[in-house]
Amino acid sequence: MLAPSLPAATPPGMRPPALFLDRDGNLIEDGHHTSRPEQVRLIPGVRDALAAALGSGYRLFILTNQSGIGRGFFTWEDYHACHRRMLELLALPDPVFTEVKAATERPDEPSEYRKPSPRFIQECLERHGLDGSRSWMVGDRRTDWEAGLNAGIRGCGVRSGAPFKEGDEAHAAAHGVPIHRSFPDFVRIELGLEF
Ligand SMILES: [Mg+2]
Repeated sequence: MLAPSLPAATPPGMRPPALFLDRDGNLIEDGHHTSRPEQVRLIPGVRDALAAALGSGYRLFILTNQSGIGRGFFTWEDYHACHRRMLELLALPDPVFTEVKAATERPDEPSEYRKPSPRFIQECLERHGLDGSRSWMVGDRRTDWEAGLNAGIRGCGVRSGAPFKEGDEAHAAAHGVPIHRSFPDFVRIELGLEF
């Protein structure tokens, strides 16, 4: 994949970095097609980790594969209700997330935004004038860090969601992708933030 084209007119050093975040298994518990607000549970430490990242200048984005919508398991309305519940539990000042993208394609359909597609990340880097060299995509699946790598940013795996599949750790190691216990650990260890 091609590296993202960043706006050349923006002076170097002035562009904010970004965290592109998987939702299920990274911010909230992996409920396997979470579709009801009462299923939404924050992973411990996520609220403070997001607050620390925001406080040090990171723009936050969510990129979540939601094929359950494309497959007809649940509706956009259900998805939005879960998103609102997550924001309610986070209880951070608005806006927490600069943009949120739910990719609804089924795995057997041509992919537009479904991870590991880098499209959303690339579009956001350009649209918001972000510093790709300091930006990350974080999630519990290989497709999460692959989306980051495909977009030319860094990727990180977390163990707070789906169990890794065979070959995932070797793939991460081969691509310089660190793996941490959880998103809060990523923020502490890779971003060096205390909270
Ligand atoms: Mg996930």
